[in-house]
Amino acid sequence: MPNEDKQPATADSFDVIVIGGGPAGYPAAIRAAQNKLSVACIDEWKNHDGSAAFGGTCLNAGCIPSKALLESSELFHRVQEEFATHGIKVSGTTLDLAQMQKRKSGIVRTMTQGILALFKAAGVTPLQGHGKLLAGRKVEFTAHDGKRRLLSAKQVVLASGSAPIELRSAPFKSPEIVDSWGALEFESVPKRLAVIGAGVIGLELGSVWRRLGSEVVMLEALPEFLAIADQQLAKEALRHFKKQGLDIRLGAKVTGATPGTGGVQVTYEDAKGVQQLTVDRVVVAVGRRPFTQDLLAADSGVQLDERGFIKVDDTCRTGVEGVWAIGDCVRGPMLAHKGKEEGVMVADLIAGLYGETNYKVIPSVIYTAPEIAWVGLTEEQVKASGRAYKVGVFPFLASGRARAMEQAAGFAKVVAARDDDEILGVHIVGPLAGELIAEAVLAMEYSASTEDLQRTIHAHPTLAEAVHEAALAADKRAIDSINR
Ligand SMILES: Cc1cc2nc3c(=O)[nH]c(=O)nc-3n(C[C@H](O)[C@H](O)[C@H](O)COP(=O)(O)OP(=O)(O)OC[C@H]3O[C@@H](n4cnc5c(N)ncnc54)[C@H](O)[C@@H]3O)c2cc1C
Repeated sequence: MPNEDKQPATADSFDVIVIGGGPAGYPAAIRAAQNKLSVACIDEWKNHDGSAAFGGTCLNAGCIPSKALLESSELFHRVQEEFATHGIKVSGTTLDLAQMQKRKSGIVRTMTQGILALFKAAGVTPLQGHGKLLAGRKVEFTAHDGKRRLLSAKQVVLASGSAPIELRSAPFKSPEIVDSWGALEFESVPKRLAVIGAGVIGLELGSVWRRLGSEVVMLEALPEFLAIADQQLAKEALRHFKKQGLDIRLGAKVTGATPGTGGVQVTYEDAKGVQQLTVDRVVVAVGRRPFTQDLLAADSGVQLDERGFIKVDDTCRTGVEGVWAIGDCVRGPMLAHKGKEEGVMVADLIAGLYGETNYKVIPSVIYTAPEIAWVGLTEEQVKASGRAYKVGVFPFLASGRARAMEQAAGFAKVVAARDDDEILGVHIVGPLAGELIAEAVLAMEYSASTEDLQRTIHAHPTLAEAVHEAALAADKRAIDSINR
């Protein structure tokens, strides 16, 4: 039952104050209001043009603008490379980057303004400015115009997010060396682009600019490509990225980046020694760190771990009575949907309702072409666990729908336990993998077996049949591909 002991909202006191209005914080605020609690959500985000906006990194500088540009750049690429195969002749295709960026900004604006509309409908008080947690669940709020207010709450949720990691060897001190946000705002296509870090964000940004015409070199310090992913998946993806002209150099540790008249001189070390490269722009995409700057008063009692994350337990309690923390500022994958789930969980727990985040079943998606998506354990992780397992793989080459879409690259792979047939992991590289993975997430949430998937009817011809056939292949019972 929602908390009946609702504190009437006065100008300065609330049942719940959420600090941070990104994809972790704003859903927490909305759910808390749905639970009939009085709620304020404080957010300090400012865009490059000085405008304030809710939505955090995800809506303003991450998930949404990157997907807008990925979509546009993929269309630009396909119109040139693929349409002729369909029998569609297009000549004189040109790029209007200003329009592409305008469309992206329009989407971002609509989505971020949408949060204010959602807050209004739910009864959340939006406060734009800085929030600082003081002792005793007091919050100091400094509005963007400098005015200060002392607020108090029964419960405080910290959702301050993350910030890009800066490399000492390539600092963000010149306009040529940018972070992921800067790379989404280029006003012209760089002729030569270096992306430092071939992780999720680096691959997406590298793909955008490659499709729009840049020569892209990706420098990855690790010797393995996409070490976090199933390695069969990673190898398949790497093959396609290389074909697209992404020059991915592994085991390449950047030691310097110096802007000069002829471009930026990037120095890196690999197995062969010191290497040099001259480019027009450098994108640093080596990961993100938790952001807690000026968030906590010295006597707030909230603790950080050795990497700067706010310490929490499995249900996001900080250890200080009535103070919770969620999203990128706490342990776990830095993903918008992970933060959202934690936000909803916390708001329900605060209201005395049931709440849980299943950390074992969080999907990951990379929105490249082909798309990459997975959930659960990789084959390498299952092997290392010592549990006997089986694997089913179905190539999109054998999918009628993928063929019709002219996107038959990649495969779906199911890893399952030999003993009880439970699905342990699903890995997809191929068209709309990010959409297809939802079925696997649901299956794993319900601890489904491959037999459950095998006996589920999938519409024909759909891409989802690949997941069905991969489940069948785990028992060598695939119909539309040869069982090996
Ligand atoms: C280029 C890029 C692409 C990405 N693509 C995806 C994707 O496709 N899918 C995905 O799941 N994830 C993606 N991510 C990651 C995703 O953006 C983050 O995981 C997500 O934004 C984290 O949400 P959050 O609410 O924890 O933090 P944030 O989104 O960082 O929001 C935190 C908010 O809190 C505010 N804040 C911080 N401190 C204070 C304070 N003291 N007072 C007031 N306000 C404060 C910040 O200004 C910010 O608005 C991407 C990230 C990047 C950079």
